Amino acid sequence: MPSYQLTLTRKHTVAEDTLAFYFEKPHDFSFKAGQCARLILIDPPQTDGEGNGRYLSLASTPDELELMVATRIRNSAFKQVLSSLEPGAKVTLKGPYGDFTLPEQPPKSVVFITGGIGITPVRSMLLQAMAEHYEQPMTLFYANRRPEDAAFLDELTQACANSAHCTLVATMSKAQQSSLSWQGEQGYVDQAMLERYLDDLSAPVYYLDGPPELVAAMKKMLSQAGVSEDQVRTEEFAGY
Ligand SMILES: Cc1cc2nc3c(=O)[nH]c(=O)nc-3n(C[C@H](O)[C@H](O)[C@H](O)COP(=O)(O)OP(=O)(O)OC[C@H]3O[C@@H](n4cnc5c(N)ncnc54)[C@H](O)[C@@H]3O)c2cc1C
Repeated sequence: MPSYQLTLTRKHTVAEDTLAFYFEKPHDFSFKAGQCARLILIDPPQTDGEGNGRYLSLASTPDELELMVATRIRNSAFKQVLSSLEPGAKVTLKGPYGDFTLPEQPPKSVVFITGGIGITPVRSMLLQAMAEHYEQPMTLFYANRRPEDAAFLDELTQACANSAHCTLVATMSKAQQSSLSWQGEQGYVDQAMLERYLDDLSAPVYYLDGPPELVAAMKKMLSQAGVSEDQVRTEEFAGY
C-alpha cells in the first residue's frame, strides 16, 4: 500500500474533545468518499501498546483541496501526541483502504445511520454525493449524547437544508445534560424513528458505521424491521 508524507496545515475543534486535522493533499493521492487511511506519527515522544498509528476515516471529500481526519481526543499516547502537533508537522499516511463507499450505480435511496465520531466517513460520502448532484433521496440519522458532542452537525444541517435530496435527523440521548437548547429528536435511533422519516424501510441501501456496539445494535434493529442483509453496508470503528 502506498505511503505518503503529509504536512499538517491546521487543526480545530469540531465538537467537545474532538479535533479535526487538515493536511496538504499529495498531488498523487486519490481516494473514494468513505474510505479510511492509517495515520502514523513520525518519531513520537511517547507511544503505547497500539503503536504509533491508527486507522482514521478520511472525513474530507475527494474534491476538497485538503485531507481531513477527525478524532475524539482521549488519553492514549497516539491521541495526546496527535493533538499536540502544530502546523508544519509531518505524519505518514498509508492508504486509502476500505470499500465503505457509495456504489457506482446510485441506489433508489440511501440511509446513513451513525453516532458520535462515526460521522467522519458519512460527512465525506454525503457532501461528495451532493457535489456530484445525486438525485436519490439521502437520509442521515445522526445520534449523539448532546449537541456539543456532534461533530460537523451545523455544517451538515446547512448542507442538507440547501439540498432537495437530503434529510438530516439528529437525535440526542442526553439532551437534558446539555447547556444548549435542543428541539430535535431525542433518544436512540430505533424502528419507530426510522418509520417517522422513511416511507418504506425495505427500499434504501443502509450505511451503518461507528463503534462496534452501535453498528451491531443498528444491524439487529434493521433485521428485525425486515430489511434484507444485502441492503446493509457496515464499517466498525474497532478500538472504540
Ligand atoms: C475503518 C476504521 C475507521 C476509523 N475511523 C475513525 C475516525 O474517523 N475517527 C476516530 O476517532 N477513530 C476512528 N477509528 C478508530 C481508531 O482507529 C481508534 O481505534 C480509536 O480512535 C481509538 O483510539 P485511541 O488512541 O483513543 O485508543 P486506543 O489506544 O487505540 O484504544 C485501545 C483500547 O483502549 C480503550 N480505550 C482507550 N482510551 C480509552 C478511554 N479514555 N476510555 C475508555 N476506553 C479507552 C479503547 O476502547 C480500546 O479498546 C476507525 C477505526 C477503523 C477500523
